[in-house]
Amino acid sequence: MSDSSDDLLWSRYDFSKIPFEDIVSLGQRTLLYRDLFNVSWLLGRYCNYKCSYCWPYARSDERDHRPLDVLMATMDKIKFQARNNGFNSFHFSFSGGEPTVHPGFLDLLEYYSQDPISPSYQSTHMTTNLSRHLGWFEKYVEATKKLHRVSITASWHREMANKVDFRDKILFLLENDIHVTINMVMVPEMFEDYYEEALFFHDSGINVTLKPQSDPSASRVVDGYTREQLAKLHNGMPQRNFTQHKMEQNKRRSNRPKMPDHFKLPKIEIEGDGPIAQNMQVELVDSNGKIWYMDQAERFNAFNFNQFKGWHCRAGFQGIVIREPGGEVKRSYSCHDSPLGTIDKGFNIFSEPMPCVTPSCVSSVDSKIPKTKAKYASERENKK
Ligand code: SF4
Repeated sequence: MSDSSDDLLWSRYDFSKIPFEDIVSLGQRTLLYRDLFNVSWLLGRYCNYKCSYCWPYARSDERDHRPLDVLMATMDKIKFQARNNGFNSFHFSFSGGEPTVHPGFLDLLEYYSQDPISPSYQSTHMTTNLSRHLGWFEKYVEATKKLHRVSITASWHREMANKVDFRDKILFLLENDIHVTINMVMVPEMFEDYYEEALFFHDSGINVTLKPQSDPSASRVVDGYTREQLAKLHNGMPQRNFTQHKMEQNKRRSNRPKMPDHFKLPKIEIEGDGPIAQNMQVELVDSNGKIWYMDQAERFNAFNFNQFKGWHCRAGFQGIVIREPGGEVKRSYSCHDSPLGTIDKGFNIFSEPMPCVTPSCVSSVDSKIPKTKAKYASERENKK
């Protein structure tokens, strides 16, 4: 891609300047500024790939999917409880295993997008190995066309997938108004090889998320990164609006439903930003009230910023996770709290934010949920 240059490779906003020790609240901006309820739904462990490095608990050869009607009824129950708490916008994010091999997945997305109670806004995301053929993705585009925003995290598995085929499917998705980022865990011993692959995709106009490898407790980045490598993890390949760029290149306009004006997020100007704007999904506030930004919560772990025990967290109130096998409903993945229930026996979403009881908040699904240090949460409550 001709625009790909150093201008696009590095963030103009230096994330390493954020005073992480002094941050007192944070959250994904869509969750801070909208009445948005977030659901992360692990549909099953079945995966059609068998990568040598995959954790045994993360995948299965058995098709362990729940029937479509159970999924639809669960979706209704979630929305009902969330609406009772004042949320009427939704983000449903699906993962697995491999979510696209669930036989009812596309029907579930159609059902989601046809909510008769008129939600203010709806978006969806999935984490996929992108193994389905292009015809399947054409159906995916069709099933999600009534949603306000659609995004994908594409996991690159070099043992199983073909680089050119993988890239071409992503370019097709970008042209069809779907946001994509490629997930790459940058193992220190393989860093340079992975970085070469990341450059191949980035040079094609595709976002790549460079993730650090964490220690077995998942609380700290492993040793072994050089200073240059850490710099890439801290400020390299910032998320940019490649989708809009690709659509403009192809003279295509978005046909998604228009967002009400009050739903538009406050604009962020980044000095000297490159030709394709950086996306800043996360907002952080320090003890002086100064606002800081980060492109995505995936970068928190690169700064070992993942300890929020005692903070007031909206996980369980403004978002839940559902996990198979067992259909467990939880605050979020890392949380040590008792589950909120199960799909089979029922579940109860919290009616207010609750303190965090967990030493490390390691998944970006968890860390992006709005949270405030206890002292500052009480000050805000007292001011009300
Ligand atoms: S571990 Fe759970 S409760 Fe604690 S900050 Fe993370 S999401 Fe919130």
